[in-house]
Amino acid sequence: MSDFVREDRDRNERVIHGLAAASGVGLGRAYLREPDRLHVPRYRIAAQHVEDEQRRLAAAIARARRRVARIRARAASRAKLIPEMGAEELGYLFDAYVHILKDSRLVRGAMARIGTERINAEDAVRIEVGLITDAFKRMDDAYLSARIEDIREIGNRLIAFLLKKEDVKPITALPKGCVLVAEELRPADTAQLDPDIVVGLAAQIGSPQGHTAIMARALGLPAVLGAGSALAEIETGDLIAIDGDRGEIIVHPSQDSLRAIRRRIDQLRAERKQLRRLAKRPAVTLDGIEISLRANVELPFEMDSVANAGAEGVGLLRTEFLFLNRATVPTEDEQAAALIDVVERARGRQVTIRTLDLGGDKSSSDLITRFGESAASALGLRGIRLSIACPEMLEIQFRAILRAFAHGPVQILLPMVTSVQDIRTARDLLARAARTLHRRNEHIPHPLPPLGTMIEVPGAALSADALAQVSDFFAIGSNDLTMYTLAIDRSDEHVAHLYNPLHPAVLRLIQFASAAAVRARIPISICGEVAGDPRFTALLVGLGFRELSMTASSIPAVKRRILGIDRSSAVRRANLIMSETDPSRIEALLDDVHEAA
Ligand code: PEP
Ligand code: MG
Repeated sequence: MSDFVREDRDRNERVIHGLAAASGVGLGRAYLREPDRLHVPRYRIAAQHVEDEQRRLAAAIARARRRVARIRARAASRAKLIPEMGAEELGYLFDAYVHILKDSRLVRGAMARIGTERINAEDAVRIEVGLITDAFKRMDDAYLSARIEDIREIGNRLIAFLLKKEDVKPITALPKGCVLVAEELRPADTAQLDPDIVVGLAAQIGSPQGHTAIMARALGLPAVLGAGSALAEIETGDLIAIDGDRGEIIVHPSQDSLRAIRRRIDQLRAERKQLRRLAKRPAVTLDGIEISLRANVELPFEMDSVANAGAEGVGLLRTEFLFLNRATVPTEDEQAAALIDVVERARGRQVTIRTLDLGGDKSSSDLITRFGESAASALGLRGIRLSIACPEMLEIQFRAILRAFAHGPVQILLPMVTSVQDIRTARDLLARAARTLHRRNEHIPHPLPPLGTMIEVPGAALSADALAQVSDFFAIGSNDLTMYTLAIDRSDEHVAHLYNPLHPAVLRLIQFASAAAVRARIPISICGEVAGDPRFTALLVGLGFRELSMTASSIPAVKRRILGIDRSSAVRRANLIMSETDPSRIEALLDDVHEAA
């Protein structure tokens, strides 16, 4: 038996419940994602730089404290819901972390050592952690030896913040066929996974609407998120199954369960094969209305599945994923190469390239160092706001997009727009980028690509009339529109049960924006997750949408749904749904229309 495989005999099956985040079933050996070993640089600093170095350490401490407070708040509210989690123990643990970060020998010692030995902050933290843990080990006390891990954990966190290494931890060398288990998987982590190696994901925190879940769905990886601290009992090598439809993690499945799991894996495979046969058929309703089904794409390699799914181009390219998992911002040439690759692989079908939507759960430590927590906040510098705050970055991206435009049809989409001014500023920068390319004698087709607006903030939906005057098209981002309308953080597992794109407020905003687009005679599509859920298809067609964009793997199931819909009855049912104010009645009407067709 290899190191990776743990003995399964005589172990009882256990089911851990979490949130169903990405459909499918995966069976494999657990692989726990442990924090990376950090290489700690050691160098001497000049006397005049001592204060700067101490300030650098103080900033890292402040960030680590904020991070611990955030994890603590999440764990505490979860512990209230699940008593076995041991709220008290968790409280002590976090108290210890906060104390260590506030005023401890570790912090005082490292600060002093920077001054007395004139060494860099990372090395000062490393030395102090070593001295403290050695002293604790000598004391032969169970409580203190348990604290050794806390001190090491805090020391590593501080060093990672100092090195700005948080976002560039590659998930490498995973054993083939493993299920990745982690405390938290960020969207950037998930983007690194190879679906030929990993068969499923489970994480303590996270929710189905966050970008980690979206990325897992794009990769076709079954995922259960928000499963809480029960996951901490899983060890690397344990046999586990991830049921991404039921939100279950089955640890040491019994022989009966194994048989049932394998049967479902075979069934799902057969169903997928059958759906693939629809790839070449157009998506047309029973009464002849053609619906354009496009793909949401995060990384260029997904273009293979886009072609296989029979997508009519790319309705949303989330370019921020090209920027995550890197220590530096990609150059214009690097960005252009990646975009040209996507455009060429779309083979003449249109690619909708969204400008950077960094910020919120898709931030990086580099941005946080520049802009503070605002760059990690859903209400802060996210999307177009961040791009406008860094106009040189947006202009470089526009130049890369325009270079890709020379290789095939492209349109440009702006995320998180709230005002007409956002679009005007972006249009000016686009024109400037075009002038620079002309000066360089680069060929770009005329006219410039259409510039569209994501409607994903309630304020944008309510001022859609004004935005339509300066936009060439609209794309509804129902994920964020739901989050901001209902004040529900889409990556927070504690409020995931309240997240509901069928809430009348959200539906009315969608209808309001789409009516504005019709009046202004500009095209409108929808690219939030509802577009890829066959349950919503009849409602969206009934509301007048003729273009839906979704994860490529969802296209066949949505197409099958469209083939069975009659547009006029979908319109009648949509009108009925829009006159309803009770979300549960809306759900019932939606399922009715689903069954009726
Ligand atoms: C949305 O908000 O619905 C959307 C499509 O954008 P993202 O999920 O990337 O925020
Ligand atoms: Mg969005």
